[in-house]
Amino acid sequence: WSSRDFSWTKNLEVYNKIVFGNHSFRPNQREIINATMSGCDVFVLMPTGGGKSLTYQLPALICAGITLVISPLVSLIQDQIMNLLQTNIPAASLSAGMEWAEQLEILQELSSENSKYKLLYVTPEKVAKSDSLLRHLESLNSRSLLARFVIDEAHCVSQWGHDFRPDYQALGVLKQKFPNIPVLALTATATASVKEDVVQALGLVNCVVFRQSFNRPNLWYSVVPKTNKCLEDIDRFIKENHFDECGIIYCLSRMDCEKVTETLRAFGHKAAFYHSNMDPGKRAFVQKKWSKDEINIICATVAFGMGINKPDVRFVIHHSLPKSIEGYHQECGRAGRDGQRSSCVLYYSYTDYIRVKSMISQGGLGQGHMTTGYNRKASSGRMLESNTENLLRMVSYCENEVDCRRFLQLVHLGEKFDSTNCKNTCDNCSSSKNLIEKDVTLIARQLVELVKLTGERFSSAHIVELYRGSLNQMVKKHRHDTLHLHGAGKHLAKSEASRILHYLVTEDILAEGVRKSDLYGSVSSLLKVNRSKAASLLSGGQTITMRFPSTV
Ligand code: ADP
Ligand code: ZN
Repeated sequence: WSSRDFSWTKNLEVYNKIVFGNHSFRPNQREIINATMSGCDVFVLMPTGGGKSLTYQLPALICAGITLVISPLVSLIQDQIMNLLQTNIPAASLSAGMEWAEQLEILQELSSENSKYKLLYVTPEKVAKSDSLLRHLESLNSRSLLARFVIDEAHCVSQWGHDFRPDYQALGVLKQKFPNIPVLALTATATASVKEDVVQALGLVNCVVFRQSFNRPNLWYSVVPKTNKCLEDIDRFIKENHFDECGIIYCLSRMDCEKVTETLRAFGHKAAFYHSNMDPGKRAFVQKKWSKDEINIICATVAFGMGINKPDVRFVIHHSLPKSIEGYHQECGRAGRDGQRSSCVLYYSYTDYIRVKSMISQGGLGQGHMTTGYNRKASSGRMLESNTENLLRMVSYCENEVDCRRFLQLVHLGEKFDSTNCKNTCDNCSSSKNLIEKDVTLIARQLVELVKLTGERFSSAHIVELYRGSLNQMVKKHRHDTLHLHGAGKHLAKSEASRILHYLVTEDILAEGVRKSDLYGSVSSLLKVNRSKAASLLSGGQTITMRFPSTV
């Protein structure tokens, strides 16, 4: 997509320089623009700050017609529009909070033959719940004035992802009603299964995929056991490494945010809390003080993050267990935007796992921005299953004392990473712990056999339970306790068994897929056997060794 000359190539150069003031394109920008302007559906995975906005704003200027941008938060939309107006690009937005008369005026202006607007930003519920918007789009389309649909934060479409928003699911209607209008889906976070799910739900056809490395070499990752002296530990960590520097501490609940803030203040830090239970004015106030460095430390729930662009965040601390690896990766990604060395420390305890698990099963995910509708749904069936699976992955990440943290995160995001490139920038790579090489061939073979025996229809969590001889409901329901390998791995710790199983996924011997339940269309992950890669392991032609902490 980069080398060919297109009819618009000259225009791209000129507009990029003159309108946007950029000297050149960043990696993939030109390719994405060429693909979407050629009329293809495009899926883009690009880290935050990579320059996703340009990939639709520039085409919006060059193409005839309107570009419809769907973005999850009114505050993000306002930011974007402000930026566009500063560059003299006329853009408008519609959201539920606006006066109807004002909305109508915008829609009418858009429908006029030479509308001043090139971009229209809307929240997803506008598409899901407003017939009048769809009717206007139809009218524009009949006059060839609809250029493209842009779906920002596209991972929100997937229930399997960590930030599902119900209104995003309705966006499939766009491709149904307007099969010829190209869709550009953008996200900074998605596992391979989330990507598949998004592509399916949106109905993208022969979609061109661009993905960039998600490795952030300037971030240092570590996991620390959480004791009841956790706040003292955090205080010491900050004073020793990041005194008077700026950081975020992610907490599980609003109460935690307030408690951590209070304690850190008593220790002499300039801290404030931020959570969804505060009124918007207060939140904006805190965020402003933080951007102006009048407060260094924000203790926040995950409600704090999207659209935060402070370049000099020197540390992101997780005071308790994040709910998924991709969520964790994204939260850490708010540190070190300026490329300077920054720390990501996660305080882990098994007690927190139990706490998060019970929050998930009660439907209170603690995600301040979620609607209650979501929460009710989250506690039911498959949704609960996929949230639990995500959480278990996070636990096995924390309990892994051997493998490179970057490797573990990136593999989860579908990216291969050679851990020698970590260069001791994570706790496991720089650890002086004694590791010994163990032959795990038999265990690996049994795990693969179990996946096969159970018909390739179960999640890794279930396979681990079954292998270790659990008699939980799922095991009983499917009569898996009658399998000869039930309990064959009872000598293994859960973290060991799941580490070996996930290793087989990274080696492509097992593959992870998604399963759709027909009733609600929700998804969960399941393991499959990659026959060709598994053949030599199953026939005894391959040995597998892994490193383990020596127990002496
Ligand atoms: P994303 O949406 O991927 O997080 P943005 O689109 O907000 O990233 O871009 C991040 C920053 O990079 C913005 O300040 C933008 O102006 C700048 N930027 C984008 N593309 C270029 C480019 N080709 N050259 C220079 N700066 C760029
Ligand atoms: Zn490492």
